[in-house]
Amino acid sequence: MDLLTELTNLLGAGQVLTGPDAAPFLTDWRGRYTGAALAVVRPGTTDEVARVVRLCRRHAVPIVPQGGNTGLAGGATPDAGGRAVVVSTRRLDRLRALDIDDDTITVEAGCVLQAVQDWAREAGRLYPLSLASEGSCTVGGNLATNAGGTQVLRYGNARELALGLEVVTAQGEIWDGLRGLRKDNTGYDLRDLYIGSEGTLGIITAATLRLYPLPVAQCTALVALPSLETAVALLALARSGFGAALTGFEVMSHASLDVVTRAFPDQKLPLGPTPWYALLEVSDSESAEHAQERFHAVLQRALEQGLAQDAAVAASLAQSRALWHLRESISAAQSWEGKNIKHDISVPASRIPAFVAATDALLQAAIPGVRHITFGHLGDGNLHYNVSRPPAMAEPDFLLRQDEIYRLVHDSVHAHGGSISAEHGIGQLKRGELARYKSAVALDLMRRIKQALDPDGLMNPGKVLP
Ligand code: FAD
Repeated sequence: MDLLTELTNLLGAGQVLTGPDAAPFLTDWRGRYTGAALAVVRPGTTDEVARVVRLCRRHAVPIVPQGGNTGLAGGATPDAGGRAVVVSTRRLDRLRALDIDDDTITVEAGCVLQAVQDWAREAGRLYPLSLASEGSCTVGGNLATNAGGTQVLRYGNARELALGLEVVTAQGEIWDGLRGLRKDNTGYDLRDLYIGSEGTLGIITAATLRLYPLPVAQCTALVALPSLETAVALLALARSGFGAALTGFEVMSHASLDVVTRAFPDQKLPLGPTPWYALLEVSDSESAEHAQERFHAVLQRALEQGLAQDAAVAASLAQSRALWHLRESISAAQSWEGKNIKHDISVPASRIPAFVAATDALLQAAIPGVRHITFGHLGDGNLHYNVSRPPAMAEPDFLLRQDEIYRLVHDSVHAHGGSISAEHGIGQLKRGELARYKSAVALDLMRRIKQALDPDGLMNPGKVLP
């Protein structure tokens, strides 16, 4: 029997998509990659996922796991060959358990991140992973890419929030590692192997996630900064002043917010023009009075020390949301202006000013007039270092320089002791670049892990490993 018939017998015709029904699953979020597939299948249980994997394996057909398809590295898009089966996890969307005593939630991999946040909030708890794509991305995709976001500074990224996983292996077995233990030193950490593996080792089908108490009060402010050096100094001051209460510290260049106010004229900057801005958020577990008192004291110190020129403190939830909305609109505003070349990098926070100065200068020398849209999670040393074309350069001419720009920026990241991917992963976008910056020993170990867990090479081929 052919594979398509076997898949249809297993899942029912409605869950095996081909032709136009499959098309939305075959192009990535940014419209950068379009692939082809034998079918897109939508299993509804872990057992069905395992059976799908075993069928594909018997027919030697590659498998591409896919969650919300919001990834930015082309990891969930099959190649153009048309042989692969895309396994969409979106029907694995059940809340399996919410344990208040242990502060854990166990959910299936296709649950949308926002649904998990809502379930936690309804139980008086916080699931702190927070990304602009949270209305579409899934728990499985978050874990497979080890997603970050705006609260990593306090709560860590997806890896730190995962206590246990359930995985369908490349052989089609089910590994139940869903225990929500905080401590477990019984040998190799299989959970951590699957997290960040971008679907190349197995399919995550469920996860037990860590919950936190909901904050009692939050304070948010946009701060005007004379330089990136002062942003780093302000971060140190905020860390010592707020301790674990500091839950957000974002930086944005003037050019980043300028494009937002041009693209979306209803969004207003509450401060005058300045080279850099920081968005600070503090979450307090005591009271609103305690939060505000401490917040104002630290901001006052920053103003006195010349680390801040001015600050707009949100006086209401609506004002706080408006400040975050400015930050979260930068990517959309950039798209409004046209295509740009994105880098999702990290360097040690203390080296960010030197990295930005050196890389800006190298780019200007290579492409005079190029525009730098630089913003990101300074607290994690993670910058979105995006590059837009000079106004006088035609977009196609600019895009022809893409590889040169990647190389220049990534070489500079490497020279500053950083990583070429801090959030979005490698996927198919940065596969070639990985070969350049990972050591031969690291690459060899990665290949041996892949060989051990997926000996037939059927899990998401052509992704991550060069
Ligand atoms: P997909 O896009 O479906 O898949 C991503 C990768 O994971 C692919 O390699 C896929 O094969 C694999 N995969 C998916 N599900 C599984 C599974 N169950 N088992 C095994 N492998 C699987 N990322 C950040 O880290 N921080 C951000 O702040 C951030 N902001 C974003 C904002 C926007 C507007 C957008 C569009 C994206 C953003 N991203 C961000 C990137 C993206 O949202 C995240 O990487 C997200 O975690 C991907 O989840 P997904 O379900 O959409 O995964």
